[in-house]
Amino acid sequence: MADEYDFDLFTIGAGSGGVRASRVAAAHGARVAVAEEYRVGGTCVIRGCVPKKMLVYGAHFAEDLEDAKSFGWTIGAKSFDWAALRDHVQKDVTRLEGLYGQTLGNHKVTIFEERAQLTGPHEITLAGGKVVTAKYILIATGARPHVPDFPGSEHVITSNEAFHLEELPRRILIAGGGYIANEFAGIFNEFGCKVTIANRSDTILRGYDASVRDRLLQISMVKGISFLFHAEFESVEKQADGTLMVKLTGQEPCEYDAVMVATGRVPNTEGLGLEAAGVALGKKGEIVVDAFSRTNVEHIYAVGDVTDRVQLTPVAIREGQAFAESVFGPGEPYAVDHSCVPSAVFSHPPIAAVGMTEGEARNTLGNIKVYQADFRPMKNVVAGRNERSLYKMIVDAANDRIVGIHMIGPDSPEIMQAAAIAVKAGLTKADFDATVAIHPTMAEELVLFK
Ligand code: NDP
Repeated sequence: MADEYDFDLFTIGAGSGGVRASRVAAAHGARVAVAEEYRVGGTCVIRGCVPKKMLVYGAHFAEDLEDAKSFGWTIGAKSFDWAALRDHVQKDVTRLEGLYGQTLGNHKVTIFEERAQLTGPHEITLAGGKVVTAKYILIATGARPHVPDFPGSEHVITSNEAFHLEELPRRILIAGGGYIANEFAGIFNEFGCKVTIANRSDTILRGYDASVRDRLLQISMVKGISFLFHAEFESVEKQADGTLMVKLTGQEPCEYDAVMVATGRVPNTEGLGLEAAGVALGKKGEIVVDAFSRTNVEHIYAVGDVTDRVQLTPVAIREGQAFAESVFGPGEPYAVDHSCVPSAVFSHPPIAAVGMTEGEARNTLGNIKVYQADFRPMKNVVAGRNERSLYKMIVDAANDRIVGIHMIGPDSPEIMQAAAIAVKAGLTKADFDATVAIHPTMAEELVLFK
């Protein structure tokens, strides 16, 4: 590789995409450096998927302990210690951060624990003043929570702060109706907080199948979560006792102990010297890339949330891998296939989906068949919990091919990972029918659709 540069690859951002790209490039013999201004691991490991999932586990004990009585267990007085869970979660986050750092170290990737900025076509200047050069540059700086602009917006928290709360709020307002709003609504509700979700539209989880969304809304309301629609912030005022008086459009002012905003995430592209380097940005400030994650500047690439393609960790990892193998590996360059990406919402209960929703399939294919199983899981029946699961399969009537599966119910993300392989592989409803059920399971519904 080119010795006129200090490094073959300089990656800005050590999150999921950046770490994967750096380590794979280094494994192919590239001299790699990565700059990270906060903590190695990025959003997923430090303040996203991983600690969130741990909170989801912690939260679900509220129901499990209650249900245990129906299974013959005597449970004494139960109480929940938020600080204990919070600190255990953070301890594991620190452990994982160490492992990510170790992986980079094992691959001889140089880590600069400071902010980096492009100051020339191949030149990077670190916050401490050091200047280095690299043949290729990868931007993997991720995204951050978007906070709408309104009077008092400085008083709200985002998911970043939610992991570190000193104490649980008695009443929390969560703005937004997407992934983060619904996941944290479930978490706080199980911990005993009074949760209100307020969204600007009349829809939660836009993009998911309508029946599954409706089922989550119904179950969430039964669990005690309140929903406000067509509600946008007018103001948030901090009162003398520390509580927050919130005014939303169309609503009477209401008092909360905390307000959390989960209204989407914006790409981190400011202050990176991208304009000076001539890197083109899109309307939301995202870095515009081609199928190979290459920007309009030939030697500058970008992967993950900063490109605002599909804001999911496993996608960022694939993009990082594909970039590194394409640029530094021996094979032909290849692009990541962004179609048919399975996803999940870790609400209570969780949602999982792959492929087209019923609405999308009707619009694009016209003639479809929809199979549905609406059932109460055995565990819920014994527990006396009136909470029903819903599984849907969308089939192209022209060729019997399954084009979408949508589920809400216990463990649906775990079940979906396997089902998504079949959908991605283009299997048919007949293939599912030919598969013998595992009984008794919830997943068997997938091969028993009539
Ligand atoms: P989402 O895109 O999921 O949802 C954003 C919500 O905020 C929507 O309900 C939207 O309203 C509303 N909204 C958007 N812009 C504004 C605005 N300017 N003012 C007021 N409301 C607004 O975003 P999240 O923040 O929940 O999550 C960000 C991303 O992170 C997700 O898209 C997802 O890709 C990823 N993520 C994935 C998770 C997972 O895989 N389980 C978990 C958490 C995050 P509406 O659509 O109704 O108009």
